[in-house]
Order: sequence, then structure tokens, then C-alpha cells
Amino acid sequence: MLTKVIEQSKIDHFTKWFDRAEKIVIVSHVGPDGDAIGSSLGLWHFACSQGKTVHVIVPNAFPDFLKWMPGSKDVLLYDRYKEFADKLIAEADVICCLDFNAIHRIDAMGDAVLASPARKILIDHHLHPEDFCRIIISHPEISSTSELIFRLICRMGYFSDISKEGAECIYTGMMTDTGGFTYNSNNREIYFIISELLSKGIDKDAIYRKVYNTYSESRLRLMGYVLSQMKVYPDYHAALISLTKKEQNSFDYIRGDSEGFVNIPLSIKGVVFSCFLREDTEKPMIKISLRSVGTFPCNRLAAEFFGGGGHLNASGGEFYGTMEEARKVFEQALEKYKPLLL
Ligand code: 5GP
Ligand code: MN
Repeated sequence: MLTKVIEQSKIDHFTKWFDRAEKIVIVSHVGPDGDAIGSSLGLWHFACSQGKTVHVIVPNAFPDFLKWMPGSKDVLLYDRYKEFADKLIAEADVICCLDFNAIHRIDAMGDAVLASPARKILIDHHLHPEDFCRIIISHPEISSTSELIFRLICRMGYFSDISKEGAECIYTGMMTDTGGFTYNSNNREIYFIISELLSKGIDKDAIYRKVYNTYSESRLRLMGYVLSQMKVYPDYHAALISLTKKEQNSFDYIRGDSEGFVNIPLSIKGVVFSCFLREDTEKPMIKISLRSVGTFPCNRLAAEFFGGGGHLNASGGEFYGTMEEARKVFEQALEKYKPLLL
């Protein structure tokens, strides 16, 4: 049995909306990851099974290693189909905002979502949700939004209507937001849920391979290169890796190729904090990814030095300047946070 994590009044409120809704739009964050797509498609499969007209819309493309997911071909990319997406958003009865806590996380889609008269619900696990939805289901103690979707559907009384395809999507989001159940994954109820998803016929080992073992040769060579350039700061128990646009070009870089790189330095004994600086291909900025193990607060450092945020152990931000300047800021941050890194 699962603990009743989501408040009953919110389940009842959403159930009312859901029963009455014909058109439902599900939106998730820019640079969609496994949990963004997994939770969105998990809810999408369920809502479709109830006869709703449902669309998943995300701001931009998601990585190739998620494209096997059932329903992924129907995910609408806002940057390519803006007009159609704007119409769906404006005409929706209910908009479900998944896996983000602030309207700016859906980029240009934000205006359309805010302007829509639809009823809006936020379902998310990031800290400090903004107040732009009538129902806010926010649980930072839960490791993925996909898990929250499973809990929501079950609490609405529809476990039996979760299909194998829906279960695959939910499992994928739970798996990717915990690094294959290697962090944020000590809640035993996670394994109860996995057991329930297995009862739907999912092949969890195959899902792992489809997500983590389908890289291109050039991606693996890029990884080797990035690691060969890594800087370790033993006195700070930290490591830094980086990737310029020039370096990306010499390895036929495509979006998603550096996914997961930031976690690798954490496999060094004694390193508890890892930073990855990547020059963005579209915007003139450097994308910052931060990861830690234990109690080091990546989100505080991200907010203070890189205008970002996120979770304690996984955060991000942006830097407008050169790679060299970004490195300097990172080193200043290390100095300031040294007491927490020991
Ligand atoms: P990633 O390193 O995978 O891009 O991001 C890890 C986590 O950091 C995300 O799940 C999100 O919570 C947070 N994050 C990433 N980039 C940003 C950002 O620019 N701003 C904020 N507030 N959070 C971010
Ligand atoms: Mn997530």
C-alpha cells in the first residue's frame, strides 16, 4: 500500500475538472528530460484511455534516447508548431503543468498558458512552486513527477486503466530522475510502484538499455574527450568539466549528446560536487549543470552564482559570458562554499 502523499481535497478537485473536461493540454519544461516526457506521456496515455482529447506540448525538442517512448511522436514542439499549439492552449478546458515550478521554465509558451482561460493544475517536485495554477500539487520530497502521476491516477481510482505503454512512460521518468535508482531513491514506496508497473507488463531492463545504451560512437568519443580535459579540485572535493561550441562541432554534437556527463566526476573517490559548463548552441550563453552527493546544496550555489536553482543534488543555471569567465565564477563559488564541501 502507498502512503497518501497528495491531499485528498486536491484529488477530489482535479477529479471534478477531469470528469468535465473534453480538451486537455499537458505542458512541460524547456529541454525536456526523461521525467518531463515520462510524466507527460504517462498522463497522456491515461487521459486518452478516458476518451479525452489530449495533447502534450513542450517548448522544444527532446533527446533521441526518449523517442522510443510510446506516444512520443505525438508530442508537439512549441518552437515548430506555435500557431497550432497556441490554439490548443487557448481552447483547452484543463491545462496540466508538469515537472516545472516557474512559468519561465516553459519559455515562450508561458504567455499562452497564462492567457488561457483553462483550469490549470501544477504537478511537480521542485522546491518553491510559483502561484500560477489553481491546484498546486507540489512534492519536492518525491523523486520524480512521473511518480506523482502514478500516485494521482491511482488515487483517482484508475490503476486498472494504466496501460503497459503508460506504465513504460511513468517508469522511464522515475528511472531517469533518480539516475537509474542511484540517487533520491531510498523511499521504499518507489519499489512498490515499480512492482505495480511491472504488473502491467513493462520490461524495465529493456527500458534501461533503450535510455542509457543507445549512444552514437561520436558521443562516446566526446565523453572521453571531455573527461580527459576535466579539472579536479581535491581541496574542494569538486570537479569541473566543460564543452565549448567549437569542441561540440568537432564531435558532430547533437542535442542530448552530453546528457549525463555531469554525473561522471562524482564517481571519483572523494568528489562530492560536479559542475558541467556547456556553451549553448542556440542562445549566447553557457548552460550550467550541477550535481552533488550528500548534503551539498547545488541549488543554493546555482541561485547565488548562476541565476538558477533546482534540487539539492541536481541543479542548473545560466551564465552570460565567456567560458573562461564562467570557470572563474565557478572557482569563486567553490571558495565561498568550501566550508560545506569538506
Ligand atoms: P540539468 O543539469 O539536468 O539541466 O538540470 C538539473 C535540474 O536543475 C533541473 O531538473 C532543474 O530543476 C534545475 N535547473 C536546470 N537549469 C535551470 C535553470 O536555468 N534555472 C533553474 N531555476 N533551475 C534549473
Ligand atoms: Mn523531474
